[in-house]
Amino acid sequence: MTATLIDGTEIARQVEAEVAREVATLAGEGVTPGLAVVLVGEDPASRSYVNMKARMCERLGLLSRKVVLPGNTQTRDLLARIDRLNADDAIDGILIQLPLPPQIEKPRVLEAVDPARDVDGFHSSNIGSLVLGREALVACTPLGIMEMLRRSGVSLDGANAAVLGRSDDVGKPMALLLLHANATVTICHSHTANLPEITRRADIVVAAVGRPAMVRSDFIKPGAVVVDVGSNKLTRREDVAGLFGEDSPRVAELERRGYVWVGDVDQRDVMRVAGKLTPVPGGAGPMTIAMLMKNTLRAARRRRGLEC
Ligand code: NAP
Repeated sequence: MTATLIDGTEIARQVEAEVAREVATLAGEGVTPGLAVVLVGEDPASRSYVNMKARMCERLGLLSRKVVLPGNTQTRDLLARIDRLNADDAIDGILIQLPLPPQIEKPRVLEAVDPARDVDGFHSSNIGSLVLGREALVACTPLGIMEMLRRSGVSLDGANAAVLGRSDDVGKPMALLLLHANATVTICHSHTANLPEITRRADIVVAAVGRPAMVRSDFIKPGAVVVDVGSNKLTRREDVAGLFGEDSPRVAELERRGYVWVGDVDQRDVMRVAGKLTPVPGGAGPMTIAMLMKNTLRAARRRRGLEC
């Protein structure tokens, strides 16, 4: 069997086009959804993510505000900045770019974001609503995965799902969304015994562990749907050639750029067994940004009492 790739880039484009259309309709009513992205420090990867989000806002017609604070910013100064954004009527969504520098108290900061503007879905009240199956702003990566699965015709009702990873931003909300879609969900983590035995029973495997190519074909039931959330940077030629083959374009990419992104799934190996697979890059990544735009639009409508 050779798996079909689920094209996250194409599905993200569809979502973005829908958001752009809705934003244009809202503009006719005098409303422009606004997203503020707060970056603390100079981390180049974080800066490039923030710029990417700002560009996407501009492309879809949303207002974008970048708030860049120095790397030595203290928690109280960041909290004061968030308070101002919470009170700013032009801002519907607030995203705190992670990771934050070590001196910042991350839990206090995430809790300070107005839950109605918490487009990352990290506030405890949004997480609580998600647990209860109530209307909430939900973390963009798991939300994007649900959208990819839905638009790819993957049936979740009654399916066995294994989620690898139990982080607050991916694993836990992912498991809850699958559960609400009537899947039977097993959450796995670094203490799980006999991991491949568990994942081999699953119709859907979501890998969010941050371990390059950890999930191999012996983890996967023939025909299963495999979602690769991992985003791992490889810089060694032998690692890339070992995963993709000496003649692979990925090796050429490494030589050109000095690094390549790989997922938590050994794509070449798993493709032989799985039914469907989301690639890295081009799967969960683009969907995450698309869902951030959708969440901002949703927050803008909800704040004004408009139907979502
Ligand atoms: P995280 O907070 O580091 O959590 C990793 C989880 O994986 C933990 O629950 C950990 O278990 C589990 N784990 C680690 N090693 C394992 C092993 N050998 N076997 C089983 N479970 C293991 O990471 P995260 O934020 O959830 O992110 C996971 C991956 O997704 C990363 O590569 C990240 O870069 C990527 N990501 C991508 C996007 C995107 O937009 N594409 C968004 C978010 C994250 P314990 O709890 O026991 O430690």
